[in-house]
Amino acid sequence: MEYYSTLAFVLKQEPIKEHNRRYIFFTQEFGKLSLLALGARKINAKLAGHLEIPTLTQIHFTMSHNLRLITALEEIPYLGIKKKEKALTIAFWIADLVNELVIEKQSDADIWKLLFDTFYFLEKNLNKFPETADFTWIYFNAQFLKILGFSPFLDGCIECGSKTNNKFFSFERKGIVCQLHHDKNDWPINSQQRKFLIFLFNSTFGDFSQVILVREILKEKKYLQKFLNKFTLVIKSDIM
Ligand SMILES: [Zn+2]
Repeated sequence: MEYYSTLAFVLKQEPIKEHNRRYIFFTQEFGKLSLLALGARKINAKLAGHLEIPTLTQIHFTMSHNLRLITALEEIPYLGIKKKEKALTIAFWIADLVNELVIEKQSDADIWKLLFDTFYFLEKNLNKFPETADFTWIYFNAQFLKILGFSPFLDGCIECGSKTNNKFFSFERKGIVCQLHHDKNDWPINSQQRKFLIFLFNSTFGDFSQVILVREILKEKKYLQKFLNKFTLVIKSDIM
């Protein structure tokens, strides 16, 4: 039997029949993988502890017959995130989003790096700056959609290219629109909100080493969360 090994984040787990469990991972080398853990309930609490969201874990598995998980060994437990309910909620939300929008067995170095950097950033800053949690959510959402190839068009009116008076965003057309081209379903967007969105879609975590910038962006937290939620729903309905 051939064995494989890779670093992985758990995205989801569910019980199968009486004693088995299915784990869905995002792995460094194979992308999303669904693995069956036979007798997982009996195996021991130790394995389960190494497979809690958002633990970074080294997994060993086999691909013969069905894909089967053999062992898992914790690399980074992210205890800080697990201790804070809000941060943990965000980690689960990130895992769900990746699970929903990524197809199996396609390795993706960009998604891997984003997951890795996101949990690292959250863990590192959470205690000193609790607002990091809300920011991480918003930033991950924008960057993940960008990697999948879905960035909103924010440079000028998506219909005529006009650079001025673009006070609306069309979710149908996925871009900002001018007064002339807007219709009743569009959302208002001001220049500050647009500037922050451009920044979120085009920056790296390194650009946010100053917490003052994070706080500035969070002044528009409600709008940005609502916007990215809605934009994500539109993308989901497009591709599913
Ligand atoms: Zn226009």
